[in-house]
Amino acid sequence: MRFDELELQQPILRAVEEMGFEEMTPIQTQAIPIVMEGRDIVGQAQTGTGKTAAFGLPMLQNINAKVKELQAVVLCPTRELAIQVSDELHKFAKFLHGIKVLPIYGGQDISRQIRALKGGVQIIIGTPGRVMDHMRRHTLKFDEVKMVALDEADEMLNMGFREDIETILSEMPTERQTLLFSATMPQPILEIAKTYQKNAAMIRVVKKELTVPKIEQFYYEVRPRNKLDVLTRLLDMYDPKLSLIFCNTKRQVDELVSALQTRGYFAEGLHGDLKQQQRDRVMNSFRNGKTDILVATDVAARGIDVDDVEAVFNYDLPQDDEYYVHRVGRTGRAGRTGRAFNLVVGREVYKLRDIQRYCKTKIRLQPIPSINDVVAVKAEKILDNIHQIIEEEDLSKMIHLIENRANEEDYTSLDMAAAFLKLSMGDGVGQEELKYDFEDFGDTGAEEGMVRLFINLGKKQNIRPGDILGAIAGETGMPGKLIGSIDMYDKYTFVEVPREYATEVIQVMKDSKIKGKSINIEPANKK
Ligand code: ADP
Ligand code: MG
Repeated sequence: MRFDELELQQPILRAVEEMGFEEMTPIQTQAIPIVMEGRDIVGQAQTGTGKTAAFGLPMLQNINAKVKELQAVVLCPTRELAIQVSDELHKFAKFLHGIKVLPIYGGQDISRQIRALKGGVQIIIGTPGRVMDHMRRHTLKFDEVKMVALDEADEMLNMGFREDIETILSEMPTERQTLLFSATMPQPILEIAKTYQKNAAMIRVVKKELTVPKIEQFYYEVRPRNKLDVLTRLLDMYDPKLSLIFCNTKRQVDELVSALQTRGYFAEGLHGDLKQQQRDRVMNSFRNGKTDILVATDVAARGIDVDDVEAVFNYDLPQDDEYYVHRVGRTGRAGRTGRAFNLVVGREVYKLRDIQRYCKTKIRLQPIPSINDVVAVKAEKILDNIHQIIEEEDLSKMIHLIENRANEEDYTSLDMAAAFLKLSMGDGVGQEELKYDFEDFGDTGAEEGMVRLFINLGKKQNIRPGDILGAIAGETGMPGKLIGSIDMYDKYTFVEVPREYATEVIQVMKDSKIKGKSINIEPANKK
């Protein structure tokens, strides 16, 4: 939908036009017409989807420029956001006359703000704490307020502003329109909506669905200091023709490139600081195979179009689920086989779970390849190569040389073949084994990624599953929702916890009590 299809005043449309907005974003298309009808709304959409205009445009539309009283209030979690929203509203109001917009936030001299407010401000964008401050000083008058917007409501609650928000809302005239925007909708937000809004329209913009091409995806649980070793081991083992490695920062790109080069890999980096000329050089050398490893940030990799990338590595997991799809989509193009490898540190496994849910894809856990795995795969490659040499080349001179040396030294030709194999496999074989990040409890009969724990209390002791869950969550501080299945028997209980929490749970729980009873807790034996 286009902005000029809305019944907005000409000066507002002109400003939007000048800002270069072409179409409304989905949240704007859904929210603005309803807000213009005068209804309350609860709007849920991700960051960067244009929520400011969604409430800002109808807000400006409703301000009576002739009335020099406060008419609309926006609450924001932080000073930065208050300033940002205020700037955006100023731009929208550029061609409107007689409208004053003012951000008010903590840290700024309050007497200056009070003076500015006396000048007839119609819209304030404030942080809850500072707005409360002005309320106490009676330097804000709410009598003429017609519209209140809560921006980033979930963030405001996370920051502990719930009471302040409720106090501010209760001080507003009851005849008002209340708009609530939030990226997520936890229960407390819905409670605020229910208490302080009237018949609010619920608007949700769900992320567009994305599918990951059908390529094999794996993840490895690693320690931060092992990342490079695991990466090089995977590179050695799979030996992809072209690899793309993603990092989240420019600095990480530079560090990884030099670490790989030191180890003898043909790697180059690509990120936003490179000049176009350098960028072209790197890309050319990657396209023609002189460089077989390209290390890049998401932004730099945008627009890279190389067909035969055989492997994508997420050296850092992407910050945004959507990036995962873009990254992984760089391999397996044009019907070729592709693989994606993710290095996951500690609790990043939860991020990985989100990615899998969002992208509706399966990423399989793999053990870090052992030295033996790498050796076996490397040897196989070499042996495949000799097949061709034996078949196609004249080896009589070589055979003669081998025979002579074997006789001289009393070697078998098998000894000599083994020695040549070792020689051609080169270095890197014989490093120490890399360990898992977490204590290994063996198979406890738990689901993948979980450890099954035995607790010597059960139904007979009047314990309920909720008590166990409450005790573990309460004592260890791990979110209760991460606790897996709880099987209760008369005298004992099995409970599954994520592997990365298992050691902590055992340690903390063995010294604590459930319903006054001390407990014994240990990893379960396999069922
Ligand atoms: P949110 O509050 O949802 O995080 P913002 O309101 O801050 O998002 O908007 C993000 C960016 O998108 C801003 O730079 C804004 O100017 C721009 N923007 C908003 N609406 C549109 C649109 N319809 N077309 C193009 N850009 C837009
Ligand atoms: Mg915003």
